[in-house]
Amino acid sequence: MRKLFIAANWKMNMYHQGAVELIRGIIERTRLLNSIDIMVAPPFTLLETIKSEIQNTHIQLGSQDVFFEESGAYTGEISPGMLLDVGCTHVIIGHSERRQYFHETDEIINKKALAALKNHLVPILCVGETWEERKQGKTFLILNRQILFDLQGIDNEKLSSIVIAYEPVWAIGTGKSATKEQIQEAHSYLREVIKEFASSPEIAYQLRILYGGSMNPKNAQEILSQKDVDGGLIGGASLNIDSFSSLVQIAENVQKMKE
Ligand code: PEP
Repeated sequence: MRKLFIAANWKMNMYHQGAVELIRGIIERTRLLNSIDIMVAPPFTLLETIKSEIQNTHIQLGSQDVFFEESGAYTGEISPGMLLDVGCTHVIIGHSERRQYFHETDEIINKKALAALKNHLVPILCVGETWEERKQGKTFLILNRQILFDLQGIDNEKLSSIVIAYEPVWAIGTGKSATKEQIQEAHSYLREVIKEFASSPEIAYQLRILYGGSMNPKNAQEILSQKDVDGGLIGGASLNIDSFSSLVQIAENVQKMKE
């Protein structure tokens, strides 16, 4: 049975004081909700602060990105070991904003995923099509290409610990979520691709696939109830105590229904 996972991506938002208020509010409102996994990915500058705030809670710490080298002359970059050192357990890799604005290719994303795993960090690998690609009927083609390229060289043993996030680019930050049918169809397709890639139905069954794209307390119940949806990667709605805590509560209820 896969445990639902709600992951917050704060993106390039939050300063110290606001971040502390936000995380304290979330801890207060979610401390009894222990049936699901929760992760928060603040900007690098807040990792240390959030780490100390979430001590003794079941909230985990994630990073929004990582570089693939271990150390050296790479000004401005952060290594997987540094993330581990600050207390991260997860790292978001291949977010569409990184692909779009920072020209990250599948080759780079694959190197990042391998480097994260080598350092015992769980990659949350983001894949998804643009609106143009969906209109042209290329959704499956794009998902297939991204997944197979990004996961190259990752052995079966490590595969089931990876988290995949299906994030249709056109639904991110737009307030326009994909429909439950579009989401279930993409998730079930991704699970099939993993099944082939891993040549093991068991690994594909264990691996969690999150949905990301304008998820909020109004649409969460419907989305999270889909058979192949194992949680959400939440952008906008993770920046507010009420909306994020409500999402966690909804996920907790759905988890109990799915059990
Ligand atoms: C995201 O950036 O991963 C995301 C899903 O953003 P939003 O929830 O704001 O659409």
